[in-house]
Amino acid sequence: MSRSDITPLSPRKLVVANWKMHGSLVRNQALLDGYLQGLQSLPQTDVVVCVPYPYLAQVQSALAGTAVAWGAQNIAKYEEGAYTGEVSAEMLRDFGAHHVIIGHSERSTAYCESDENIAEKFMMAKRHGLIPILCVGETLLEREAGVMERVVGKQLETIIRLFGGEAFAHTIVSYEPIWAIGTGLAASAEQAVAMHQFIRDTVAAADKTAADSLKILYGGSVNPQNAVQLLNQKEIDGALVGRCSLDVEQFIKICQAVPENSVI
Ligand code: PEP
Repeated sequence: MSRSDITPLSPRKLVVANWKMHGSLVRNQALLDGYLQGLQSLPQTDVVVCVPYPYLAQVQSALAGTAVAWGAQNIAKYEEGAYTGEVSAEMLRDFGAHHVIIGHSERSTAYCESDENIAEKFMMAKRHGLIPILCVGETLLEREAGVMERVVGKQLETIIRLFGGEAFAHTIVSYEPIWAIGTGLAASAEQAVAMHQFIRDTVAAADKTAADSLKILYGGSVNPQNAVQLLNQKEIDGALVGRCSLDVEQFIKICQAVPENSVI
């Protein structure tokens, strides 16, 4: 396996580590060494690590020649220009990044990112050969009101309306119920499967071929215990992992939860 195989077309399930705003050169190196050692005997799992921007150079060097791919947690919607503090897709490519998380709720809520803004970032990533990991999901109030499909549907439909269903070809969507992120309360396998089916059906209604080439991950308080059930569902192509990705043992256990014979 090599990093260039870690595309949405890979038959293997994918586990993405989202380090959020955690890390230091020393702590990162220990985490990466632990990941690489633990993943040696795990050919059934693809792994991507999404790090804070300053550590892109570190992961580029530490992961060169390994089977683990890396990426970032956001990009600018612009090519380049007078946008102080922003980082472009082209800059990520300079550091060998393959993936980028787009529309994470911790950003869209804190920085008031609209669905349109997120759609533009999604396409910017694609234009530059990055694989976008688009986060979609509803709040607790929206789930309790029973409108979760309407909310997630609108997030997907914005991309479909602006760029067509084919925009989803060879991309990744991560279903991340906002009420499950960082709370310790993951969605049940039934809740996740139902939403994953809805996501694939929504994209398929716009472009069947694109839907067939889409990977759909689950994110939200994934841990070694719930990963076993979640990653055993055929509708769940992998996981986006926050907190547990900062602990080698827990992260490797989540990667081990991918069934050995699973082929997407
Ligand atoms: C996330 O960062 O998207 C996430 C799901 O975090 P956690 O696993 O900590 O809930």
